Amino acid sequence: MADSFLDTPIEYLKGVGPKRAELLKKELGIFSFYDLIHFFPFRYVDRSRFYTIREIENDVNYIQLKGTIRNVQYIGAGRGKRLVATLSDHTGTIEMVWFQGFRWIEGKIKTGVEYTIFGKPSWFNGRFNLAHPELEPLIEAQASSSNPFMPFYSSTEKLKSAGLDSKGISKLMKNLVSSDRIDIPENLPFWILDRYKLMPRLSALTQIHFPDNPEIQQKAEARLKFEELFFIQLRLCKLKATREQKVKGFVFPVVGHFFNEFFKLYLPFQLTDAQKKVIREIRVDLGSGKQMNRLLQGDVGSGKTLVALMVALIAIDNGFQACLMSPTEILANQHYQTLQKMTQGLGVSIHLLTGSTKAAVRKIIDEGLTNGNFHLLIGTHALIEENVVFKNLGLVIIDEQHRFGVEQRAKLWKKSNHPPHILVMTATPIPRTLAMTLYGDLDISVIDKLPPGRKPVVTRHVYESSRLRIIGFMKKQIEGGRQIFIVYPLIKESEKLDLANLMEGYDAIIRSFPLPHYAVSIVHGKMKSADKEFEMQRFIKGQTQIMVATTVIEVGVDIPNASVMIIENAERYGLSQLHQLRGRVGRGADQSYCVLVTGDKLSADSLTRIQTMVGSNNGFEIAEVDLRLRGPGDLAGTRQSGIMDLKIANLVRDEAIIATTRNIAMELLHADPRLEKDIHQPVVRQLLFLSKKYGDWSSIS
Ligand code: ADP
Ligand code: MG
Repeated sequence: MADSFLDTPIEYLKGVGPKRAELLKKELGIFSFYDLIHFFPFRYVDRSRFYTIREIENDVNYIQLKGTIRNVQYIGAGRGKRLVATLSDHTGTIEMVWFQGFRWIEGKIKTGVEYTIFGKPSWFNGRFNLAHPELEPLIEAQASSSNPFMPFYSSTEKLKSAGLDSKGISKLMKNLVSSDRIDIPENLPFWILDRYKLMPRLSALTQIHFPDNPEIQQKAEARLKFEELFFIQLRLCKLKATREQKVKGFVFPVVGHFFNEFFKLYLPFQLTDAQKKVIREIRVDLGSGKQMNRLLQGDVGSGKTLVALMVALIAIDNGFQACLMSPTEILANQHYQTLQKMTQGLGVSIHLLTGSTKAAVRKIIDEGLTNGNFHLLIGTHALIEENVVFKNLGLVIIDEQHRFGVEQRAKLWKKSNHPPHILVMTATPIPRTLAMTLYGDLDISVIDKLPPGRKPVVTRHVYESSRLRIIGFMKKQIEGGRQIFIVYPLIKESEKLDLANLMEGYDAIIRSFPLPHYAVSIVHGKMKSADKEFEMQRFIKGQTQIMVATTVIEVGVDIPNASVMIIENAERYGLSQLHQLRGRVGRGADQSYCVLVTGDKLSADSLTRIQTMVGSNNGFEIAEVDLRLRGPGDLAGTRQSGIMDLKIANLVRDEAIIATTRNIAMELLHADPRLEKDIHQPVVRQLLFLSKKYGDWSSIS
């Protein structure tokens, strides 16, 4: 078998006994030669470059120092115990600190000896120190570094105590690439290697660990990134193609009575061009005989609900039922009321099903769904419970899809013996190339324009200490007839504290805005649904001017007269959440405001987030910053977790390669849909290898 060398269990490598094998598996997930050789250095250090201690500045990353250890001692006790050693060179001294692995490090350091030190300085207590640096006696370092361009591998305390620090891992790597059994077949076809001038696989895997020079290292890296992203794209494109071949979709040939009547007589405003374009794209899908799997992206307030309704009308026109699923009850209620009102008199029957639907109503709904009299069901995930049975569900729309888990979506597939068309909507904008990966098996439509007449929300940052300024501003807004949201964070870990905080804030607001001049609503997750809905309604009807809430109102809520959003503890939210919250205002014709209240002391990241919000109203721009700050791992909607486990490529920095590999994958499948050609057999082998190793993605929908 071609891949047998790479398949070899790690214990068969020279230098790896049972104990190390166990550790490599546990600590790094390295089970085979393949895993080891794909464990790439996180950095290379030019061993010819030494810093002096005085040269250390705030923004240096990992550096190499040369100096003598003067003093080694333990400080503190119990969990606070640490080992501190002082390093000095001719320009100054710096402390090195270890919090664990004492025995191992104690055995390694001797006072009075010269060392080379490698680590990342951090600013602590008014000076720099180095936490857990790597170190090596200078003489040994000089002897071993025949090559000044040296790879560094991340390691763990446990591995280090088994001799597998960065250098130890590098030794294993050497044993692997110099094995006389080595056999690493090329897995990209020649025409791709040739067109993109890619380094062959074996050289790339060798050079990435032991580069002859920085240029070759870069070429090796480029090749490996290309390979990694190419196979992801190929798998996604194949998945999509297979699904399109295998799964027949319901055909909705007509645009009939309901859609046309609605368009002519009921439409509350002109559709934006962006809405029209998207509806057209969806109509093509629905008439094509293929099962639709489409993602509809549109910034907050871009008018996705109306698109959802019109698409549902097409399904109903063709004799099918549709459902619209929302992540919260508040939002389901709102959708129900909006759509109900918009279609009054049209003759479609729309119903609401949530966790708090009463048994008697539930019975009526069940009947209407099974006999087909009910056309559109709106609800929360109560919709996908097994006992909800449709007569002929043809279309499923999922709002704010990033709030749902994969399993919940998978359940929907099973609602009908024939999978329904699926439209998922999201207001979490992500860059196009990232979408190609995260949603690579879906088609994507984008509403790229907001309805006309929207004024950008003016966003301000206010420190807690100058909070009083806000009160006057709020009073003025209320005098002008506007309404105000005040949002408090409620985070699971500190729920009790947060809730106390919210109630305290609520009391303070009531004191500043007393009856009978003002009235205040409150909504939080711990309230009964009926109470929540009651408070929401008071606010919607304008009986209250201020709504104090937790993030239960984060998504979807649409109250155009509310024009001020005050976010307390804004530093505790991520960017996409802040953007969502801000999206609750700026929906009417009035100038809207968002006030971000934060503590007086902010971390650098928090400040960047706040400044980004103050500086931009554009969801895509904000998403890019978010991505840079957090990496894609945390991004809302990162469902295909296997995809996020990249070994070398980076979904943010390698945008260009993502786009290229996507095109190449499509080109290849176009030229050879079943991958039958001889020249593509290396690709087929790799695909098999990957699906054996990481599982099949076909269960992801
Ligand atoms: P989102 O895309 O965030 O779900 P909504 O569907 O809630 O946005 O729409 C936001 C607001 O814009 C609603 O008040 C809606 O009535 C209004 N709206 C939607 N489409 C248009 C349009 N074409 N012209 C004017 N207003 C619109
Ligand atoms: Mg919405």
